[in-house]
Amino acid sequence: MRVGVRVGKEDFFYDIHSLVRAFYPDDEVSVYAAGDAEKEALPRDLVIEVSIPPYSSRKAAKDSLKRELYGRLRAMTGKNLPWGTLSGIRPTKIPSGLLREGKTREEIAAYMSGNYLASPEKIELAIRVAENERRILSGIPFGPETFSLYLHVPFCPSICLYCTFSTSPMDRYGGLADAYLEALFREMDRETEMLPDGRRPIPTSFYIGGGTPTALSASQLDRLLAETEKRYDLAAARERTVEAGRPDSITREKLRVLKSHGIDRISVNPQTMNQKTLDLIGRRHTAEDTLKAYGLAREEGFRNINMDIILGLPGEDIGEVSETLEAIRKLKPDSLTVHSLAVKRASRLTRTLKEELSAGSIQDYSSYEGLSFHNSGPIIRMAYETAMELGMEPYYLYRQKNMKGGLENTGFALPGKECLYNILIMEELEEIRAFGAGASKKKLEPGGKPARKINPKDLKTYLERQDEPIQPCN
Ligand code: SF4
Repeated sequence: MRVGVRVGKEDFFYDIHSLVRAFYPDDEVSVYAAGDAEKEALPRDLVIEVSIPPYSSRKAAKDSLKRELYGRLRAMTGKNLPWGTLSGIRPTKIPSGLLREGKTREEIAAYMSGNYLASPEKIELAIRVAENERRILSGIPFGPETFSLYLHVPFCPSICLYCTFSTSPMDRYGGLADAYLEALFREMDRETEMLPDGRRPIPTSFYIGGGTPTALSASQLDRLLAETEKRYDLAAARERTVEAGRPDSITREKLRVLKSHGIDRISVNPQTMNQKTLDLIGRRHTAEDTLKAYGLAREEGFRNINMDIILGLPGEDIGEVSETLEAIRKLKPDSLTVHSLAVKRASRLTRTLKEELSAGSIQDYSSYEGLSFHNSGPIIRMAYETAMELGMEPYYLYRQKNMKGGLENTGFALPGKECLYNILIMEELEEIRAFGAGASKKKLEPGGKPARKINPKDLKTYLERQDEPIQPCN
């Protein structure tokens, strides 16, 4: 269906679009100003009229406009959105700010319910995350002079259907891995200065993400860590994580390399334990690989292992998710990150499976046709209950555009096993010094907004442009 939103004047377009899209996730939504003859002429199945009265406070006007529009959309569709009118990526920012102002849980809940129409369940979750985040960060000194260190490894054993990260398949691009590492070291050299007394800078937290860092060979991983240690004092950081990720890339030898460099937290990500789904989404590994990689990591002495799962994968409903959760219950990871599938425009999923079929990368399109991508309150609740039954608490949360069910991603962890970096990338507490393809750097400017820069996402472009100045990203 083509949904048009005709607005009295050109204002609040982004907010209006996000809210209407949340009610009509599978439809084409466009927002235009009344009087724009070209846009008015386009054919539409539904037109929603919105007027914007004069205002003195932009924030109050926006909140009120969204509440009024929400009420109409709810009446038209019969739907309620779990997060009400909140469409930003960090709804926990609101309870965090109010907690800092000394507000009670009840006051925060009343504000989130009255102003944003969020559901009691999501309000409780947001407050709980904000409280845990506060506890975890308390006593850690942050400021313009502190930083966390992130390295990006843009290689994976194969590309998952829903992926939009900066990554390339190892079989085609693995030959560039050594050149990539060299480029990464040069980038680090350009942007790293020793401390005045000659010591290496100490990051608050250290994180290697991707892609799949363990797609590199054991010797490449060893080199990556050894070269980073020459430039940064990783042993003095509060935590060191490697997002191993894909179970099929994890070997005993690689785990030993990570251990020998003091890596104390890794991820072994099943996403689902349902083999049929794994095959459909192009993970090219088995559920058995996950059990094996997890067992190896425990044998090699890893005491902080995270697992990621995704809800809303093709063809999965509550039964399949329940099987995955049952397997997680048995494994007892130290943390569990529950994602809701976000189908982004750039992913293979949206760029059409049919293209993949003609290119020969999938064999049979019919297995994808008619599949539902379904996430819902009961499914996500079941996942959260599993995490809490395992003794975990929610400690970070974010939302993305086009998330199935209008839900969220939430990180749970046993007390003391949280990943500081996961919180710090969303906060504006310190610099994020990030290196590699697609790496997003954030620097705190005194008294101002953080300055951000992003590296080229594409591997070859990153390699070609490694010595050029990076482009500002707004
Ligand atoms: S493992 Fe992660 S980074 Fe790699 S292709 Fe899959 S979703 Fe993308």
